[in-house]
Amino acid sequence: MNITKVETLFKLFNETAVILQEELPCSYLEALAETGENVFHGDILQDELSELTKKRLMKHYNSISLQGYSKEDIRNGYQLAILKGMQENVQPNHQMTPDAVGMFVSYIMDKFLEAKQEYTLLDPVVGTGNLLFTIMNNQPGKNIASFGVDIDDLLIKLAYIGANLQEQAVQLYNQDALEPLLIDPVDAVICDLPVGYYPDDVRASEYELKADEGHSYAHHLLIEKSMNHVKSGGYLFLIIPNSLFETKEAPKLNQFIKEQSYIQGLIQLPVSMFKTKAAAKSIFILQKKGDAIVPPKNALLVDLPNFSNVEGMQAIMKKISGWFEEERKK
Ligand code: SAM
Repeated sequence: MNITKVETLFKLFNETAVILQEELPCSYLEALAETGENVFHGDILQDELSELTKKRLMKHYNSISLQGYSKEDIRNGYQLAILKGMQENVQPNHQMTPDAVGMFVSYIMDKFLEAKQEYTLLDPVVGTGNLLFTIMNNQPGKNIASFGVDIDDLLIKLAYIGANLQEQAVQLYNQDALEPLLIDPVDAVICDLPVGYYPDDVRASEYELKADEGHSYAHHLLIEKSMNHVKSGGYLFLIIPNSLFETKEAPKLNQFIKEQSYIQGLIQLPVSMFKTKAAAKSIFILQKKGDAIVPPKNALLVDLPNFSNVEGMQAIMKKISGWFEEERKK
């Protein structure tokens, strides 16, 4: 990633989104989606704008050619603009996955899926696509056929524009991921789980992990859905709240996970990344059971230090590599 290039792209997205917002009745994120479309097409798609505004926008667009930028430069520039927009009014459950988390998930996935040159990948709550694209951009040698689902039409629009700008092929579906999906089981699922209640009790009743009474937890149902959509031997990389196993519904979830999969690892993200200790999260890694799939000798249990703690991170990386070496001996 080149910081100057990222800043230049952020300025392009930001300044043109602000210009669009002066004339269109829309939020910053909506304006960002519009300007992203314009940048991709090299044209202005909003006919209703005045000639003067069109000229001002064109001057910005003509000042940059995306060809001189890497996929990660583009993702980062676009991500900074999305972050600015999210400060306006996005609820915590719809927040983009932080970059450091995406980078770490990408690193750990690469280790688990090292032997596969091509694989299929599903993110059932893809949001802006930031997590998915971090993974795809950081595994350039691999052929990844990816699928994303999200219920929020603006976020998935940002994902589709991000995919175009970064030239990443992905099939996106704007729907509730708990409704039937037209996607075959995949080799790996990534999922930064939205935490909270799922309002549709009728739909929830189709799931084993429905609550015995009242609304069910959306994050429990999404874990079940993810498990159903992964092939035998496939992996799930779930970003979970640390409190996942502390609720009344937790024993049922625990039993479901043990019946269906082997726990490969639990990696606690640094608490300092989150506003409060209660909001802290972990990466939970599962492998779906199947013929010839054997459990790990030991699960990989790691507490990550602050990402800025270079020595601490090096020690952890060594521990992780050691774990993989041990597991591969079996
Ligand atoms: N990884 C995403 C990114 O980098 O932008 C962020 C995911 S965010 C933590 C959780 C997402 O879950 C939100 O985008 C929200 O719209 C989506 N979501 C919540 N309930 C959903 C459902 N039932 N079906 C599909 N998406 C859902």
